[in-house]
Amino acid sequence: MSDCIFCKIIDGSIPSTKIYEDEYVYAFMDISPLTKGHTLLIPKEHVANVFEMSEETASNLFKVAPRIANAIKDTVNPAGMNLLNNNGEKAGQSVFHFHLHFIPRYDETDGYKPTWVTKESEFTQEVVKQLSDEIIANLNK
Ligand code: 5GP
Ligand code: ZN
Repeated sequence: MSDCIFCKIIDGSIPSTKIYEDEYVYAFMDISPLTKGHTLLIPKEHVANVFEMSEETASNLFKVAPRIANAIKDTVNPAGMNLLNNNGEKAGQSVFHFHLHFIPRYDETDGYKPTWVTKESEFTQEVVKQLSDEIIANLNK
């Protein structure tokens, strides 16, 4: 896609610090690292988000995720690692070419601050069961 910065990174017209490339995927260091070792893995095919991604593209991308994660782990020796993918502006996506973040974690002061506020009183077991039935119907349609 001509106006996509990640497509331009793949074709080399925008420079990047590449760590891995194969026929299907490209991995490079994030330009604004959240923590030491913050890396992005993208498909070479331009897909905006997970909703547009074929099973084949997903399989080619996710199959290298453990290798990338372990190479980062062996390099920066983190205490843990978050794999993160934002889909849509409201979900925090700012570049609309699918990317999987590898964010090594060190401690609570490392700059990564997810907020996780659960709502069990709103999403009761009955509501969750009804939702699961609808999701299953959509999975099977
Ligand atoms: P998002 O917010 O869409 O999940 O993440 C986009 C990520 O892409 C951000 O972490 C941002 O720093 C990174 N990014 C944006 N533009 C560039 C670029 O030109 N080069 C690299 N290496 N990373 C970029
Ligand atoms: Zn693209």
